[in-house]
Amino acid sequence: QRAPTEIQQLADMFNLMISRLSGSWKQEQRASARQRQFVSNVSHELRTPLTVVRGYLQSTLRRGDNLSAGQREALSIAATEADHTIQVLQDLLDLARADDGYIPYRMDYVILNDLVQQVLNRVKKVKPRPLLLEASDDLITAYTDESRLKQVLVNLVDNALKYSPDPEPVTVKLSQSENQAIIEVSDRGSGIPPDLQRRIFERFYRIDEARTRSGGTGLGLSIVKTFVEGMQGQVFLTSTVGKGSTFTVQLPRLSKHDPQGTG
Ligand code: ADP
Repeated sequence: QRAPTEIQQLADMFNLMISRLSGSWKQEQRASARQRQFVSNVSHELRTPLTVVRGYLQSTLRRGDNLSAGQREALSIAATEADHTIQVLQDLLDLARADDGYIPYRMDYVILNDLVQQVLNRVKKVKPRPLLLEASDDLITAYTDESRLKQVLVNLVDNALKYSPDPEPVTVKLSQSENQAIIEVSDRGSGIPPDLQRRIFERFYRIDEARTRSGGTGLGLSIVKTFVEGMQGQVFLTSTVGKGSTFTVQLPRLSKHDPQGTG
């Protein structure tokens, strides 16, 4: 299924614009305050009109009984691209805010079994692939920000699917140690060579730039790292080329201020 040329060109322009916007972030892990302000202003300014554009596209698609199949396809591709760009702008805003220390984390006790299941159900709707949850009957809780953690897991599961062939399964395993809740996202995909295992957490870094059409931007894992560390956790990677990868997220089980976990 190929996109009509104009839509493809529009999508390419979006991608080019985003990579320009990010230009100097690529070299430096931490942008200067002025760069961050700039990125954050531009992201904000672009996000609003794009959200309106997406809204019109979606409502035209919903009401459009008299659209031809071709028009329908063109509109739905445009809507998907708009959606993708909005997500990238949101990621840029989040990263700029996190650098400035402005991301408010709403920390609370969260049951991970439920949260992981919700994430898997959500991803399954978009990508029907085998997604398995491995957990004992014990409920595992963490002291964390529920919505940020969902975003972290969506990014990891999404990558696991993107970089492993259909119909290989993706597994999320839950466990706990004395102080930490442990979430492991595993795939049986391409794997990541040892010398690149650190680099993939950098902003805009992608192993295979040529595959930009797979819908990636190189921001997903920097969001993961920023959010997990912002929630006092850690993220690790173990991977073997040709076999697959496991991303491990460790989160505190208890609040520092409430070591008994009584809420
Ligand atoms: P994106 O997926 O948008 O390119 P990410 O920051 O999420 O950006 O990932 C950065 C790069 O790390 C990807 O482009 C890919 O090359 C590599 N990568 C991420 N997750 C995996 C995985 N599960 N298996 C193999 N490679 C991966």
